[in-house]
Order: sequence, then structure tokens, then C-alpha cells
Amino acid sequence: MEIVVLDGYTLNPGDLSWDSMKKLGNVTVHGRTPTDPETVLKTIGNASIIFTNKTPIPKEVIDNAPSLKYIGVLATGYNVVDITAAINKGITVTNVPAYSTTSVAQMTMALLLEMCHNTGLHSNAVHDGEWTKNGNFSFWKTPLIELAGKTFGIIGFGAIGQATAKLAQAFGMQIITYSRTKKPVLETANCKFVSLDVLLEESDFISLHCPLLPETEGIINTKNISKMKDGVKIINTSRGQLVNEEDLKIALQNGNVSGAALDVISEEPMLSTNPLLEVKNCIITPHIAWAPKESRARLLQTATHNLEAYLNNKPINVIKG
Ligand code: NAD
Repeated sequence: MEIVVLDGYTLNPGDLSWDSMKKLGNVTVHGRTPTDPETVLKTIGNASIIFTNKTPIPKEVIDNAPSLKYIGVLATGYNVVDITAAINKGITVTNVPAYSTTSVAQMTMALLLEMCHNTGLHSNAVHDGEWTKNGNFSFWKTPLIELAGKTFGIIGFGAIGQATAKLAQAFGMQIITYSRTKKPVLETANCKFVSLDVLLEESDFISLHCPLLPETEGIINTKNISKMKDGVKIINTSRGQLVNEEDLKIALQNGNVSGAALDVISEEPMLSTNPLLEVKNCIITPHIAWAPKESRARLLQTATHNLEAYLNNKPINVIKG
């Protein structure tokens, strides 16, 4: 049985083994496949099983791949596949839920701490000789911030939102959250569900952990920023389109938002025209929250289990449309 991995490099730049999957069939791993349907079809050839991370599988590919039976998405989000077209052709599509919860919560803390301590900036200054030249280092560059007692507003209190809350609580922060469904069972003395307006008004830091939906697109915009505390800081490890980037740029420039830290942006890879490249008080990382080796190993393991279950006629993690 032919198994084709279209963009294996994204998941595994060489530090994981495909051996478990190789026990299930003849696996060909392509580093990156160009995304035009013609090349994707050529790469798939007569394979019945394919895996994709970022290579789009549109209707044109689904309808013209002669033997295709199974598409394993190497991610939680499966918007790269035209699910309706796949279901109409009887093709099974699976995804990998919840493999990166711990990693994304940890990355959120890394971004939060970086905004409070500016370790990268200070380390670069030391390497540039500033500490040696200049004895006055205590108030270098930017004010530092202690987290204890500050209010951390979480939008979207699912798996990652809750994992992030636990870490922020360990720093002594007060948690308030706005989520689609209020779950009183998750409330504690320092974790309360509030309305979106209360979250915007009371948070010192706001962290986005809701999915990208029509109702959440652009939730960080001028109108909502005007309700926030002056000097608030914003973190986004969810999806770039949750932020109206032009509005955020203006707020960062005029100081209404004093800092932002983003792992995701509206168009990835980032365009040189992205307005956020113009502002210095905006940390941007290239969508890496999911990518520690441990997370990627879980992703590969679950993807292999998904295929094994499908081959045993007991499919799991199937996208129903
Ligand atoms: P989840 O489904 O467990 O949680 C999402 C939460 O958002 C749920 O509690 C849901 O009730 C809430 N929600 C839904 N609609 C909402 C709305 N309109 N307003 C407020 N809350 C709403 O998902 P998760 O595993 O916690 O992942 C959260 C997001 O993190 C994902 O949607 C994904 O975009 C992102 N993510 C990013 C990375 C990365 O590498 N940066 C990796 C994994 C996931």
C-alpha cells in the first residue's frame, strides 16, 4: 500500500522517525510539495493514503486523484482539505486533536514573560557591549513588570485557555475569562467567567485562545481596544485573523496597547507589507507554538494510530463535515 506524505518537513525536520508508519505501508515522505493542484496530483500519483500538513487538498485534487481513499491531516485544524468534496467521494479525512495543548500554553507564557522582562533585548545589549560600557543597567531599555496581582484575560477557555490559566495562576495572576460557553465548574477564587466587555475593561494582559470563526474574526479591533485599559498588552497564539492588524499597529504606536506578542498573523508566511513589521513593541514569532519535538512526536504518533484504526475498519478522529 502506497502512503504519500506531501509536506513531511513541516512536521519533521529530521528529528523524528517515520518507522511506525512504515510498518503500515510503503511510505514516501516529500519535504514540501508545491501547492498547485497539478503538482499535488502528480505527487500523489496512485497512492490511496496521503498525509498533509499545509499542502491544500481542494476539490480539483480530490476529484482527480484516481486511487485516493484516505487523507490524514497532520494538524488539528483541517481547513486545508475540501471536506465536502472528500465526503462526497467517500474519502475518509482524519485530524489530530489536542496534541499541542501543553506546548501552546508554554509558548503563551514565553511571550508573556518576554513582554515583562525583555530578555532578548537585554541579552543582545549585553552582547553588544552595553553592560561593560554603561554601569546604569537597572532601567535599561524598557520598564520591567511583575506579574503577581495582575489580571490575565483569556478569550476562549478550552483546552489551551485552561492550561494557560494554570500557568498564569502559578505566577500569582488573577484570571478572568470570556468563552462561548460559561462553565461555572471551572471557576475558582481567582478564575472567573465574565462578559467580553468586562474582560476588555479589566485585563492588564489579554490572551487569545478562541478559534477563528466569523464572530471572532477581528475581535481585536479599534472599537474593542478603546474599551481596554491604557497600556494593556496582548498575546495571540491562536489564529492571526483574530486581530485587525492595522488597528493593532495604530494602538501600539499611540500607546493604548503598550505591547503585543504574536505567534500567528493574518497571512503566513508573513508578507513584507504587514503593518505590524513597522512597530517595534510587537514581538512576532513564526507560528512555532505547536512545534516542540514532544508535540510533534505526539502528532506523528496519533496520525499513525489514526491510519492503523482506519485500516482495521475502526476509524478514529474522522472529520464528519
Ligand atoms: P478548544 O476547542 O479546546 O477551545 C476553544 C475555546 O474557545 C472553547 O472553550 C470554545 O467554547 C471557545 N470559543 C468558541 N467560540 C468562541 C467565541 N465566539 N468567543 C469566545 N470563545 C469561543 O481549542 P484549543 O485546543 O484550546 O485551541 C484553541 C486555538 O488555539 C485553536 O482554535 C487554534 O486556532 C489555536 N492553536 C494554535 C497553535 C499554534 O501553534 N499557535 C496550535 C494549536 C492550536
